[in-house]
Amino acid sequence: MSVFEAPEFDDHEEVVFVNEPAAGLRGIIAIHDTTLGPALGGCRMWDYENESDAIKDVLRLSRGMTYKAAILDCGLGGGKSVIIGDPHTAKTPPMLHALGRWIDTLGERYIVGEDIGTNPDDMREIRTETRCVSCLRKEDGGYGDPAPMTALGVFSAMRAGIEYTFGSGDFDGLMVAVQGIGNVGTSLCRLLHDAGARLTISDVYAEKLAPLAEEFSADVVEPEDIYKVEAQVFAPCAMGAILNDNTIPQLKARVVAGAANNQLDEPHHGELLAEYGIAYMPDYVTNGGGLVSCAAEWYGNDPDEVPERVRQIYDTSLRILERASADGITTADAANRIAEERVKQGRKE
Ligand code: NAD
Repeated sequence: MSVFEAPEFDDHEEVVFVNEPAAGLRGIIAIHDTTLGPALGGCRMWDYENESDAIKDVLRLSRGMTYKAAILDCGLGGGKSVIIGDPHTAKTPPMLHALGRWIDTLGERYIVGEDIGTNPDDMREIRTETRCVSCLRKEDGGYGDPAPMTALGVFSAMRAGIEYTFGSGDFDGLMVAVQGIGNVGTSLCRLLHDAGARLTISDVYAEKLAPLAEEFSADVVEPEDIYKVEAQVFAPCAMGAILNDNTIPQLKARVVAGAANNQLDEPHHGELLAEYGIAYMPDYVTNGGGLVSCAAEWYGNDPDEVPERVRQIYDTSLRILERASADGITTADAANRIAEERVKQGRKE
């Protein structure tokens, strides 16, 4: 398959195929756009069925990172890398070191972080060969787990959504249904609970919910019932594609704001949400707090200033809602337009 013919190819600046059989490494590093800064994006390790799937994935994901970094205004461009292989059986330190050496040849144009199939331990291994690593643990010199900042970003986007929809950004008494009580979901519940919201929670691992339900005075529902909960806000913090033909008609919420990636099953589900009068806070903006934290880590900014930067997701989210209304488009399209304009503007400067 030709990279240039892939529909996901969108004028990527550089796509590097790395091949080091001795280290067991076959991978791709895609730099989509560095207009606004070095391309930061995670390394995904996945047992792709074929190379075409790996190429498509890395091109799609790196382009997405350009939009995310641009709209969050964090001085970064968009990139991503993939390693082809099963992360549970094929990953080795020599493989990660080899990837680090390849990343290092790119002259700080690509900064790696974790993604599906990689973790902070892997970032530490890669770091032995290149300084172009972010999202490290505190003990490795990083700013630690980004999940709390991701949750703060979701909370900030949600505030914009409720203010725009209900005329008040006050969480007191607001009913919120949270899907997925993992790292981000738990932090989000804590913020919401402290702000006076009333919570309904759900997770496929039901056994871990009881203590959290007590901590947050939350109701618990079965996973399939979370969509139809009588709540004003739905916060998807589990997996992608959960906004679809089946779930959207069930929603009682008028605002959707959550951490999950790729929440819309298909792009037209953004329109369907708008038809139902639901304000959808675009996922890649809403869950951008972690990226803001990783950007601050890369630039060595004061970690104490990160929460304030993350709270600016509130302003960005309001701008998106206003732009969608002014242009008569969905919030997802409005976010994309703003991001594209930022990159275009950056090219002129
Ligand atoms: P996590 O794995 O810690 O938590 C996910 C939770 O969702 C788990 O408790 C899991 O049991 C639950 N879950 C899975 N399927 C479910 C279902 N059908 N119904 C209800 N619960 C279900 O992950 P996380 O770090 O909390 O991230 C949550 C989401 O946010 C993921 O989609 C992730 O890609 C995205 N995200 C996370 C970050 C971050 O900083 N951690 C940043 C950006 C985006």
